[in-house]
Amino acid sequence: MSKIKFFIPCDDANHVCDKTQYKEATLWEMIKLNIHLLYCKFCREYTKNNAKLTKVLKKSEVECLDKKCKESMKLDFEKALKEHSDQ
Ligand SMILES: [Zn+2]
Repeated sequence: MSKIKFFIPCDDANHVCDKTQYKEATLWEMIKLNIHLLYCKFCREYTKNNAKLTKVLKKSEVECLDKKCKESMKLDFEKALKEHSDQ
């Protein structure tokens, strides 16, 4: 893997959001959606009323992201965000 794709377009984010409702989204897709929601106000609105999604995300966080994993993801994200804003 050369470069992890952190940034997905809003269309993709909404698509993942829809997929989670049918439990078809992968964990990685949900992580990407989470990252997208960090900086995208519009998609936060889109997902706000989706209680089921929140539930799924919370569950996946508890099960799959320990503190160390989260920390390294945060660093990677900040790096990617910097690269993204430099462009
Ligand atoms: Zn968006």
